[in-house]
Amino acid sequence: MLKENLKTVEERIQSACKKAGRKREEITLIAVSKTKPPHMLQEAYDLGVRIFGENKVQEIREKYEVLPKDIDWHMIGHLQTNKVKYIVDKVKLIHSVDSFKLGEVIEKEAAKQNRIIDILLEVNVAQESSKFGLKTEEVIPLMEKFSQLPHIRVKGLMTIAPFVENPEENRAIFADLHKLYVDIKQKNIDNGTVSILSMGMTNDYEVAIEEGATMVRIGTGIFGARNYNI
Ligand SMILES: *Cc1c(COP(=O)(O)O)cnc(C)c1O
Repeated sequence: MLKENLKTVEERIQSACKKAGRKREEITLIAVSKTKPPHMLQEAYDLGVRIFGENKVQEIREKYEVLPKDIDWHMIGHLQTNKVKYIVDKVKLIHSVDSFKLGEVIEKEAAKQNRIIDILLEVNVAQESSKFGLKTEEVIPLMEKFSQLPHIRVKGLMTIAPFVENPEENRAIFADLHKLYVDIKQKNIDNGTVSILSMGMTNDYEVAIEEGATMVRIGTGIFGARNYNI
């Protein structure tokens, strides 16, 4: 099942790229493995997957221990400040930074470990869709503040669009975030570090790619439906 799912996702990414006149290499696929057991991640790994997205600190810690060390782990879920210390040495990218306070804690932990941590700012473009994320107008001021912190590097923006029946309903959200992304790059607010636009999930990644996503986060489409009752 996993093999066919990965093939389907790959084909759909390629056709969205073609439709949008983009190159496949512009898009990074994050396999969102939250709630799935390590053996399923291993199966995906054996099929070539090296980037996994998780939304719980505890789950990253457990899976990190038992799976191959050349995996890139991405933290995509809401991150509590008191848990930052458990993952700064394990994750390649944190997608979900939405406050100065969280950035400061990441800075502190990263400094302790003498590392630079790459982060994305989570933007709540569609205000009602999530209780987390920055307002659009908060992004540039926060980026300017973060530029003072030497151990974090803002690599781009992330959004979680609402679940909708028709993915076209999310097109305007993706277009809005892309506009902000381009704006930041043009004004050089980021000193040239911004190159990632993380948007699009199983239900809407093709539309997200058409609107400029450089990272898509796909869970159900690869691993099947999640069961939260186990
Ligand atoms: C769960 C999750 C995904 C993947 O969702 P699917 O609809 O299963 O593809 C992507 N991004 C975030 C932040 C998530 O929490």
